[in-house]
Amino acid sequence: MNQKKILVTGGAGFIGSHLCERLLKEGNEVLCLDNYFTGSKSNIVHLMDNPYFEVIRHDVVHSFHVDVDEIYNLACPASPVHYQYNPIKTIKTSVMGAINMLGLAKRVKAKILQASTSEVYGDPHVHPQPESYWGNVNPIGIRSCYDEGKRCAETLFMDYHRQNGVKIKIVRIFNTYGPKMNPADGRVVSNFIVQALKGEDITIYGDGTQTRSFQYVDDLVEAMIRMMNSADSFIGPVNTGNPGEFTMLELANLVLELTNSKSKLVFKPLPSDDPKQRKPDISLAKKELGWEPKIALKDGLIKTIEYFDTILK
Ligand code: NAD
Ligand code: UDP
Repeated sequence: MNQKKILVTGGAGFIGSHLCERLLKEGNEVLCLDNYFTGSKSNIVHLMDNPYFEVIRHDVVHSFHVDVDEIYNLACPASPVHYQYNPIKTIKTSVMGAINMLGLAKRVKAKILQASTSEVYGDPHVHPQPESYWGNVNPIGIRSCYDEGKRCAETLFMDYHRQNGVKIKIVRIFNTYGPKMNPADGRVVSNFIVQALKGEDITIYGDGTQTRSFQYVDDLVEAMIRMMNSADSFIGPVNTGNPGEFTMLELANLVLELTNSKSKLVFKPLPSDDPKQRKPDISLAKKELGWEPKIALKDGLIKTIEYFDTILK
């Protein structure tokens, strides 16, 4: 087998830890880099015995030198609660992290994949969102540190590609959920499940009619690996998400049904700039990667509920 040396930044986080596990299973050598801002050793502790797995505590805001074949750049807090905790640090992580990792890729001639986001579309006026849509982002709002940081990272990726010939891949990830989400990170799927399991009120922000499309983490990892392994000429950006679209009220009711919970719905103010609707157009991923999600929301929620049920006991 052709063993590759792969760096995963943000590897101790929710998505990163699933990615590290899958890359190791495929026989690669994996270097997991993380500053543990939102990630945790408990997400990767089960991989520590593997001699081909290495963990490095490092902040991507500072440069880093290592010889690798591929880089997956995931380091960045993803939940609004966490990325708004220190917005200046968030934008530094996206922008300086991208510069440092692209510089590394350029030096060692590694291929590099950026975990971008559906947030580059902001509060979209085009629905569903194709990659050709330039988005509707407030540059000065409370979500901007994340949205604009990720947009700038995409620009840097494109410019390192055009100016220096770096082999890049950009994946725009839509809302993703699954086991190993941080129970306290404030995202809607983890909030609703934790609240339902604890019998606490389910917090609906706004009137709950805003929509999101939820992708199970295994589907995303499959798309990221297919993207990394695709022809060098295909650089993206490519959407990865599940086109099933649900209101937050529908999600809350499904979680209540699957957990058999008696929790009540309570309505809280809608945070500013909260996008009203979001749904990926995945035609490009289907065409170029032969990929489409396989796990329906109900099935993914059952697995995620099992996980939270275990860790909350
Ligand atoms: P997460 O918060 O669980 O993981 C992020 C990881 O990055 C954590 O382990 C954290 O400690 C680490 N990190 C943060 N800042 C760092 C820094 N300066 N240096 C080194 N490590 C740092 O979030 P996630 O959901 O796993 O998201 C992973 C990536 O995917 C992020 O880049 C995020 O923007 C992107 N993404 C996620 C979603 C989603 O729905 N989960 C959607 C779109 C994009
Ligand atoms: N949301 C909610 N209750 C919660 C947490 C979030 O109603 O306890 C809403 C939030 O306002 C947004 C949607 O759920 O409309 C998705 O929020 P999340 O933070 O998961 O992701 P993002 O807004 O970044 O898509």
